[in-house]
Order: sequence, then C-alpha cells, then structure tokens
Amino acid sequence: MKEQRQFDAFNATSLYCPKCKAAMPVIERLLLILPDGELYEYKCRRCGTSLGERKVTKKPEPLLVR
Ligand SMILES: [Zn+2]
Repeated sequence: MKEQRQFDAFNATSLYCPKCKAAMPVIERLLLILPDGELYEYKCRRCGTSLGERKVTKKPEPLLVR
C-alpha cells in the first residue's frame, strides 16, 4: 500500500495555495464517482483555487461464490 501513503498529505486540512501564498484550509469536494472509487477535489477555502485531487479507491470486494 505504498501508493496510498503518498496521498496522506492530501488528507491534511491545509494545503499550500500559490495564490494566497500560504497554507490554507481546504474544502473537500466530491468531484466524480468512478466505477472503482471516488475522486475528490481540494479547493482553497479563501480563493477557491483547486489545490489538488485525490482518488479514493474502493477496496475490492471479496468475490462471493454462489
Ligand atoms: Zn487561496
């Protein structure tokens, strides 16, 4: 699960905003629902600049054998 660790930074409530030139609190917005997960967008709470995206991959469900 090394890939998931890279996204830990995006879990923080503040991200650096180039427009505000400071770490700003962000709004997490559900952007897209994908077949295998969900895509979230992070926007600066002050100026609304998009600061990043994060894809949350669903854990594969165990196959049910009937
Ligand atoms: Zn900003």
